[in-house]
Amino acid sequence: MPKDRMTSSGDAPVLVVFRHDLRLSDNPALAAAAETGRPLAALFVLDEMSPGIRPLGGAARWWLDGSLRALAAQLATRGVPLTLQCGGMAERVVTAAQALGAADVVWTRRYAAAEQAADARMKSELARLGIGAHSFNGTLIIEPWEVRNGAGQPFRVFTPFWRAVRASSPVRALAEAVPTLRPHPRPLPSEDLDTWRLTPTTPDWAGGMRAAWTPGEAGALASVDRFLRDVLPGYAERRDRPDLLSTSRLSPHLRFGELSPVRLWHGTRTAIEAGATPAAESDIEKFLSEIGWREFAYHLLGQFPALAMAHFQPRFDAFPWRDDRMALNAWQKGRTGYPIVDAGMRELWHTGWMHNRVRMIVASFLVKHLLIDWRRGEEWFWDTLVDADPASNAASWQWVAGSGADAAPFFRILNPVLQGEKFDPQGAYVRRWVPELAALPDATLHRPWTAGELTLRDAGIVLGRTYPRPIVDHDHARARALAALRNIR
Ligand code: FAD
Repeated sequence: MPKDRMTSSGDAPVLVVFRHDLRLSDNPALAAAAETGRPLAALFVLDEMSPGIRPLGGAARWWLDGSLRALAAQLATRGVPLTLQCGGMAERVVTAAQALGAADVVWTRRYAAAEQAADARMKSELARLGIGAHSFNGTLIIEPWEVRNGAGQPFRVFTPFWRAVRASSPVRALAEAVPTLRPHPRPLPSEDLDTWRLTPTTPDWAGGMRAAWTPGEAGALASVDRFLRDVLPGYAERRDRPDLLSTSRLSPHLRFGELSPVRLWHGTRTAIEAGATPAAESDIEKFLSEIGWREFAYHLLGQFPALAMAHFQPRFDAFPWRDDRMALNAWQKGRTGYPIVDAGMRELWHTGWMHNRVRMIVASFLVKHLLIDWRRGEEWFWDTLVDADPASNAASWQWVAGSGADAAPFFRILNPVLQGEKFDPQGAYVRRWVPELAALPDATLHRPWTAGELTLRDAGIVLGRTYPRPIVDHDHARARALAALRNIR
């Protein structure tokens, strides 16, 4: 870290550029700027212009709005205004640095190819102007290029990857806290967040998200405390149950960098040592390995920048995907006739989030029961998830589709009825998100088309009217998917 150069520039200001690291604590870039003792200014750039940049989806834009308001309020208590600007990353940052007379600019590194290209342009332009450019890892435990297999190649399989990460040099210590910051006396001109229209108005579809989430660092840290106390004990055993509060729900906080994985790495162990959680070692190991899947997704993105667009295994290019708009629409709306699939898709639409087990079920259903290209599913998730992530979303879709690096084999076709009965055994999840089925007895809740006429009548259900019949028969779909797979052998 080029701290020496940053401290040798007299009292010249430092510009801190925020992007997907919207927090004050354990933020190595901000900590390095604060450590210089020099005046600093804070800038966030909404970049939807740089070549190849993928604009955020609707749910993520809603989250970003809340997260920026929270960050601005936190910085304001330290006297630092958050300057907001919209435009090309390199151009905006360079212009701001010049306007400020900054000697140094600091930021947290990003990993999608177009983001890296924009940041490389920013770095070379700053260097040309004699302004120091300093980037930090504030997003990952290990960056994509930092770990290699015995042959010096990137990993393609999760288990050896994670073993290598665990065996590599110790995870960095938490960055210094920044109790005080020295604001630059002349604030940069800022755009008004309201004019960015990140939140929906007509119609306002964000009510369910507002009820479910508190974007921002304070919300993230409160969720960590709750998770360590109430959810981590038993996590290894319960994490597949969508009917229970069985996982951390930290994914959107991690996505926007309101929380670092390094804090979770150290925090879980510290909590056990301090007796702050009754969790067992196996719970921690399982939880950290899930964080490991996030690391692995970035490791894959690093070696395969087209992760969201092209099959990791090129043999899948010949797969006979079906173009079926009506089926895609039924899946998106949660009207497939399979209760666990419909519950998941409605939870997603309502709250911007879905439990991991159900993500696997609905993704498998789209790709294998409907034979619809996983990229249509990835796009829908990109638009509707508050945690939509350039690495984890694409890697997970390819994992389910069987086209990924370390993927579930395509022929493993999840049966939505058996999955529902196993992981939502009393039907609480389905009853919550598909209320028109709530009065069905447990025995037929996950397979309403097998219920007798009287049972359906007593439950107030008319199949095909109040709730759809299955849009595809499971046995037929399974046979069709396996036949399609034979095309690419
Ligand atoms: P926990 O079980 O508490 O896990 C803790 C953290 O580990 C999560 O917050 C997340 O950051 C990480 N994590 C857990 N599982 C995975 C995984 N399989 N892959 C990568 N990271 C993981 N996760 C995203 O963050 N963004 C996405 O866009 C995304 N898209 C997905 C799409 C599909 C089709 C599938 C099957 C999974 C996807 N996931 C995605 C992974 C996973 O479903 C979510 O991370 C998880 O459900 C978030 O809930 P949680 O925070 O309660 O998880």
